[in-house]
Amino acid sequence: METIGHFIGGKHVAGTSGRFADVYNPATGEVQAKVALASKDELRAAVENAAAAQPAWAAQNPQKRARVLMKFVDLLHRDMDKLAEALSREHGKTIPDAKGDVIRGLEVAEFCIGAPHLLKGEFTEGAGPGIDMYSMRQPLGVVAGITPFNFPAMIPMWKFCPAIAAGNAFILKPSERDPSVPMMLAELMLEAGLPAGILNVVNGDKEAVDGVLDDPDIMAVGFVGSTAIAEYVYSRGCANGKRVQCFGGAKNHMIIMPDADMDQAADALIGAGYGAAGERCMAISVAVPVGEAAANALMERLIPRVESLKIGPYTAGNDVDFGPLVTAQARERVLGLVEQGVKDGATLAVDGRDFTMQGYENGYFMGGCLFDNVTKDMSIYKEEIFGPVLSVVRAKDYDEALDLPMSHEYGNGTAIFTRDGDTARDFASRINIGMVGINVPIPVPLAYHTFGGWKRSGFGDLNQHGPDAFKFYTRTKTVTSRWPSGLKDGAEFVIPTMK
Ligand code: NAD
Repeated sequence: METIGHFIGGKHVAGTSGRFADVYNPATGEVQAKVALASKDELRAAVENAAAAQPAWAAQNPQKRARVLMKFVDLLHRDMDKLAEALSREHGKTIPDAKGDVIRGLEVAEFCIGAPHLLKGEFTEGAGPGIDMYSMRQPLGVVAGITPFNFPAMIPMWKFCPAIAAGNAFILKPSERDPSVPMMLAELMLEAGLPAGILNVVNGDKEAVDGVLDDPDIMAVGFVGSTAIAEYVYSRGCANGKRVQCFGGAKNHMIIMPDADMDQAADALIGAGYGAAGERCMAISVAVPVGEAAANALMERLIPRVESLKIGPYTAGNDVDFGPLVTAQARERVLGLVEQGVKDGATLAVDGRDFTMQGYENGYFMGGCLFDNVTKDMSIYKEEIFGPVLSVVRAKDYDEALDLPMSHEYGNGTAIFTRDGDTARDFASRINIGMVGINVPIPVPLAYHTFGGWKRSGFGDLNQHGPDAFKFYTRTKTVTSRWPSGLKDGAEFVIPTMK
């Protein structure tokens, strides 16, 4: 059995804590590897290593740092098949979807090649008599990222590419469910020319996370995962004086206006609701058709589509819509929520609970489920299900539809399908949610914009990737300078103002 350790100081190192977690193949249910769970001491050793390597990296000019990312992008393309296979084997998503996971991270690496431009400061000539004023963005030192299981390539790259391009050393604590791809990414960064010690992968669970949060030399922590843990990481990291940004769970609504093209809306809901078995923070999990006619037309289209979803292992090739859930516990949890939805009185229009995959009876597969007549008080509406389950909540008019995402505790993404520009514009302007799609079901911003949810989907300031990432992983220093020939006055006791 393969044992996955850590990647510290440019080398694979074995875990010494004696604690391990099983890494499953979700399609077969087999344990395919064991991953070491770091102790606080192991985490500390990685931080010391990173702290020693960081000043020389920060001293390199930004173009040289960017060139490492240029090469890294090439290597990602070279190893795309290998990365996608490892990702699908541990996560369960299809190979084309796994490639998408790598590519959406690679695009952030491409954006970070612009680091020399993004790190430029501001300059004011003659801010006072003989006085110039300028600002610079400097790296923080050692920074960290703690990432979830559902995008084991993309989200680590969202974190470490900007941080490293800005001159920091990085500690990545990836999900213990699918640790192989983060380790491969660290190897590729080294091959691309990154000095040893600048990107370290410390595998682990709560103990390693607490180590990150309590470490005096880790200056900033970027977290992505479920809301309960996001909130915990935010409060403990902030209490320790760190810069922290945490992105949490979601319940993304898609409103379907009566004038929408119902075929397009149904297509969008199938992809956005069931792709990756619903294990996406930007998955649409609630469809809100407006008016009875729209609701009936939508259900009529959705039911046969959900019934004919193609489910299978990633090894089945391109002819699969989605794979298994990540673990047996994840599947049990989703099945439990579906059961609760039925008990609460929602109409289970398509029941995928009894699905079994022939030849893969021990895999964590389940069929697509579709609920109709879901109401606000039900747990299937309130909670993030994170499985292949779509809930339809019928609204009588636009205001009632708008109120649903507005009053939900999560605020990650949302979408509206309509042909009416005024309605779309009103929706985009009023909605209290971070990412909005207009006839686009999964509005994940591209690498040069920023990604972040509102309300209980995001804690702290600044978004992920785009220019915000460079602000998060650097700090501003502002210099006011005057040369001796400009010093004309004696001691000054009054605060200087621009008279
Ligand atoms: P998770 O919260 O279980 O784990 C995330 C990270 O926290 C992992 O590295 C894990 O090891 C660590 N962790 C788990 N339990 C911990 C504990 N008790 N104390 C300290 N650390 C702990 O999340 P997950 O199941 O891996 O990922 C799915 C969740 O992530 C969903 O809620 C999804 O919506 C969310 N997500 C959000 C975004 C976003 O940008 N908003 C993106 C992707 C996923």
